[in-house]
Amino acid sequence: MWLLASLTILLLLVFVVIPKLRLRYVLMRAFPHHFSKILRKNLPGYTRMPTDVQMQLKRKIRQFLHEKTFVACGDLEMNDEIRVTIAGKACLLLLNRETEVFPKLSHILVYPSAFVVPRQRIEGGGIVTHTNQTLSGESWSDGRVILAWDQIVNNPHNEKMGQDVVIHEFAHQLDSEDGSTNGAPVLPSTVAYRHWSQVMEREFLRLQSAIDQQEESVIDPYGATNPAEFFAVTTEAFFKKSAELASAHPELFKVLQAYYCIDPREWH
Ligand SMILES: [Zn+2]
Repeated sequence: MWLLASLTILLLLVFVVIPKLRLRYVLMRAFPHHFSKILRKNLPGYTRMPTDVQMQLKRKIRQFLHEKTFVACGDLEMNDEIRVTIAGKACLLLLNRETEVFPKLSHILVYPSAFVVPRQRIEGGGIVTHTNQTLSGESWSDGRVILAWDQIVNNPHNEKMGQDVVIHEFAHQLDSEDGSTNGAPVLPSTVAYRHWSQVMEREFLRLQSAIDQQEESVIDPYGATNPAEFFAVTTEAFFKKSAELASAHPELFKVLQAYYCIDPREWH
């Protein structure tokens, strides 16, 4: 009995109390000056954010950097600019929300540029085809995000198109937190889920029809692939082209605003 009680106390100390104390210590320390410099350089709009939002962002970044492991892939050399920029963009998705910092995510793998992933497809008759796909980002529900650094900064094409691979892949992480990557993140109630699916489905069909009619849309056509991609690209548009999205798709904007608890138009 004594042994069991001692073991329980020891496990509690090692896995609950000590990690909490360590996190509290990390969050109490001052945010390094050169981290702020990186945010000013690589996070568009950071300097225009209200001070309380900047403070929240810095706190989330500290926690993100404390809890997640960054892995350099290919010939990339990992440094603070890469870690802080990725953490900063990812944590934009968590502002003003009572939430943990991507609890299922453990590793961020970073390649210097687009990476090749082998794919296997089983077709009719059991024929297996192997192809290679070139990607700038990928999100796995087993706790990994893979990113290409040259797609994250100094990429005028992505900026012009309102695309952001970090925001995209971390929206997938939020989507997969409930165990299924289906275009709906964790929401507070069944009413919220019902409203979410009504609006998202309508807007998804609207995007598909715009593509069929060859009409321009604020939303990246890639979103028409499936509901999960639709959530990821509309999240990109919400943060990167918020005024355009609010004006062209007010209902969709409102649903995303209610979920993200923030209005990025404030700092655009
Ligand atoms: Zn995607």
